[in-house]
Amino acid sequence: MNNGMRMTEQRALILKILRSTKSHPTADWIYQEARKEMPNISLGTVYRNLRVLAEAGAIMELDYGSGYSRYDGNPENHYHFQCQACGKMYDVDIELVHQLDELVEESLGAIIHEHRLEFYGICKDCQENNH
Ligand SMILES: [Zn+2]
Ligand SMILES: [Zn+2]
Repeated sequence: MNNGMRMTEQRALILKILRSTKSHPTADWIYQEARKEMPNISLGTVYRNLRVLAEAGAIMELDYGSGYSRYDGNPENHYHFQCQACGKMYDVDIELVHQLDELVEESLGAIIHEHRLEFYGICKDCQENNH
C-alpha cells in the first residue's frame, strides 16, 4: 500500500485493530480499543486516521444510511448483511462480486469500477433468541 500515505504509529494501530475484527465496528469502538494500547489517543485522531485510511483504499467506510459509519478492515468489495434487530453487520461470502460487474458491463458496454449491494433482515442469533 503506497498512496503517499504516511504510516504513523497511531494509523498502524487503528489498521491493526480493524484487521483483527470482523464486527465492522464504529469509530467509537475503535477508539476504545486503541486507548488500551495508546491511552493518549483522541477520538478526533481516530476519526482523522480512519478517513485517511479509507481514502487510501486500505479500509472501507460503510455508511448504509444509519447515520453513523462503520468500518471494515477488508478493502476488497464484498457484500454485507445488516440485522434489523441487533444492528450487527455480517460479511456475505458469495462469489458474485466480479460476475455481477461483468454482467452489467456486457449489458451496458460500460466499464464498472464498483457496485453496492446490501442485505437486510434478521440474523441467525436473533432468530434463535426469539424462539
Ligand atoms: Zn441480529
Ligand atoms: Zn465486511
